[in-house]
Amino acid sequence: MKNILITGGAGFIGAHVVRLFVTNYPKYHIYNLDALTYAGNLENIADISDAPNYTFVKGNIKDIDFINNLFQEHKFDGVIHLAAESHVDRSITNPNDFIETNVLGTANLLNAFRDLWKGNFEDKLFYHVSTDEVYGSLGKTGLFTETTSYDPQSPYAASKAASDHVVRSFGNTYKLPFVISNCSNNYGANQFPEKLIPLFIHNIRTGKNLPVYGDGNYTRDWLFVEDHAKAIDLIFHKGKLADTYNIGGFNEWTNLNLIKVLCKQMDLKLNQPEGTSAKLITFVKDRPGHDKRYAIDATKLNKELGWKPSVTFEEGLSKTIDWYLENEQWLNNVTSGAYKDYYKKMYE
Ligand code: NAD
Repeated sequence: MKNILITGGAGFIGAHVVRLFVTNYPKYHIYNLDALTYAGNLENIADISDAPNYTFVKGNIKDIDFINNLFQEHKFDGVIHLAAESHVDRSITNPNDFIETNVLGTANLLNAFRDLWKGNFEDKLFYHVSTDEVYGSLGKTGLFTETTSYDPQSPYAASKAASDHVVRSFGNTYKLPFVISNCSNNYGANQFPEKLIPLFIHNIRTGKNLPVYGDGNYTRDWLFVEDHAKAIDLIFHKGKLADTYNIGGFNEWTNLNLIKVLCKQMDLKLNQPEGTSAKLITFVKDRPGHDKRYAIDATKLNKELGWKPSVTFEEGLSKTIDWYLENEQWLNNVTSGAYKDYYKKMYE
């Protein structure tokens, strides 16, 4: 039996990773550490909460003593670190929260892992989950590869870039075994509706405007969250130590074109005339310092470990919409209270 710590497992991607590991690896005991911020929600993993190989721990990665004690108590063989402040817009209004959780929180976990094993790292691994935003913005052509220089542009991206550097420095300095992956935009079930796809599904459902930043011509690569979780599983078990893997969907969309596809699917699913949802599109003031284009080259992951996305974008989007339409209560729960104030401040 191995003890594996997954941080941020009550959040969007973390919940999918926790479910996959708890279900597929009965020989692992999965500890899910999450502070349950606005983005964390135990409903996301209610289906596996009684599994014998699963324990939820409420706690904050910023709390050094708590983290050290937790590592000493459970002697984690592996860590999959996803806990983070993750929303670019929030990092623009509140950058320090991002530095504290994403940089210092990551350092706390690394220190605790190093102090637990004291250089005796055989069969141990620290897996740091990161983003393609560390690479900055691309022009019309080209793709981010694992050797692209870092050039983060938002406080969120800078905090993730810094955390990647801290992880690598522990590998170099203390020989701490690590692997890092940098992934493109995820979409799927359980994503908090401040991010584009769930926000727009929610707004179409409730007849609200669809706020599109600037001219809508920002380009992003999109990946179905379950495919990200599968890539993490593969890299955790088969990735090369001290290496980096880019994960992406080979699936670039401008925001505006993506929204049009989403509107079309929503019209069909809600049995309303084509064009009804698109009428809600409203252009709003651009996000400051908005990166023009991200696009990932995931060839290394494909060639070395055989990973590729399992669904097309249209299939993934259809599954995602179905999930939100079938889980109205989940949406109502997370969009009550503090969400309303946040939404007003951002878009009204
Ligand atoms: P999320 O915001 O949905 O979830 C983050 C989780 O971390 C929440 O459950 C929250 O409660 C928890 N958390 C936040 N601060 C914490 C703290 N101080 N201590 C303990 N727990 C804390 O984020 P997500 O979209 O699931 O992203 C997960 C990870 O994947 C992040 O590291 C993010 O940078 C990375 N990532 C996300 C995307 C994406 O498209 N969402 C893409 C690439 C990489």
